[in-house]
Amino acid sequence: MSQVTAPTETQYDHDIVIVGGGPAGCSAGVFTAREGLDTVIFDRGRSSIQRCAYLENYLGFPQGVDIETFYALIHDHAETAGCSIVPDIVESVDRRDDGEGFTITPQEGDPVTARRVIAATRYDGSYLHGLDSDEAMLETVDHDGEEDERFDRDYPADDGPTPVDGLYVASPAGKPDKQAILAAGRGAKVGKRVVADARIDDGWWKSVAEGVDWVRQEAELDDEWADRNSWVEWFDDYFAEDAPVDPDSDRFERVRESYVDNRFDGYLSDAEIDRRAEAGHETLADHLDPEAVVEAIDSEALLSAIDDDAIRAYRDDDQQSEMEAQ
Ligand SMILES: Cc1cc2nc3c(=O)[nH]c(=O)nc-3n(C[C@H](O)[C@H](O)[C@H](O)COP(=O)(O)OP(=O)(O)OC[C@H]3O[C@@H](n4cnc5c(N)ncnc54)[C@H](O)[C@@H]3O)c2cc1C
Repeated sequence: MSQVTAPTETQYDHDIVIVGGGPAGCSAGVFTAREGLDTVIFDRGRSSIQRCAYLENYLGFPQGVDIETFYALIHDHAETAGCSIVPDIVESVDRRDDGEGFTITPQEGDPVTARRVIAATRYDGSYLHGLDSDEAMLETVDHDGEEDERFDRDYPADDGPTPVDGLYVASPAGKPDKQAILAAGRGAKVGKRVVADARIDDGWWKSVAEGVDWVRQEAELDDEWADRNSWVEWFDDYFAEDAPVDPDSDRFERVRESYVDNRFDGYLSDAEIDRRAEAGHETLADHLDPEAVVEAIDSEALLSAIDDDAIRAYRDDDQQSEMEAQ
């Protein structure tokens, strides 16, 4: 990833604070943290996903998935991507005194500052009071007999930005995302927009900033594209025309270097793909009930997957415990 650097003039505790760690918030965080943006997710309070009895229509889980496992998986994913998750309720988000960025005040912990905030709380919008006129930003709705203040769904643009500089909304927004997978998709869209805006802060321009978050097989790199100069020429052909600066300027060169680094980082060798696949399986397995794993896998296959050292270590531990018990 290209590792955007936050602008240096103003210091913040974090680049991004995401309020809400459900499908929308975690999905946004995966995109921003993978880009190297310091991302914190605050998560506690009224939750839609916690009310779901069992998730059967989220792609990738053939028999569905229980909410506890799903929630642990999406949090693990956000953390592995680089987010910190704080189990605290955000009570308010205010403009900083210098008029830049935000101060985010949680219920229990200390306030923190951030350049950007992504609201991803399906039900709760009260913490956003005062950032814009309530009339423009919020609507009051009746929900199961309780009055809720929420964002007007039409207030943010389709990919999240709002008239308040630095404030984005992933949830609730647009047409209600009645399915978790749609909420995750919207979070991803907003996360990508935030990444593009952070790159623009860092001197990039729109056409370059809207990059893709892709990894590709190194085998696809033929001789021509394995040569960095080919990428440099391609970048000049593709992006120089709408660059707001001279192609000989330091800024142009810096952005081009980051962009080309980013493209090269995205090519994975077969060995690296295997390593990531193994780590991915281990992490998934860590979330599964061991008895279900044994049940699902042929016992011979399971035993042959346990290497001799692991069996020996297990037996030694067992003998040691027996001796200690005598
Ligand atoms: C009864 C019910 C059953 C459902 N069943 C299904 C189903 O079977 N399949 C399906 O696809 N969808 C289902 N849904 C819909 C699904 O739950 C939502 O589409 C999805 O969860 C929306 O994701 P979200 O991230 O926008 O919001 P949420 O899931 O609500 O996540 C928001 C998160 O923000 C946190 N939060 C709230 N306020 C604050 C605050 N002030 N500070 C910090 N954190 C805060 C909450 O704790 C929560 O974790 C169901 C919903 C309900 C109510």
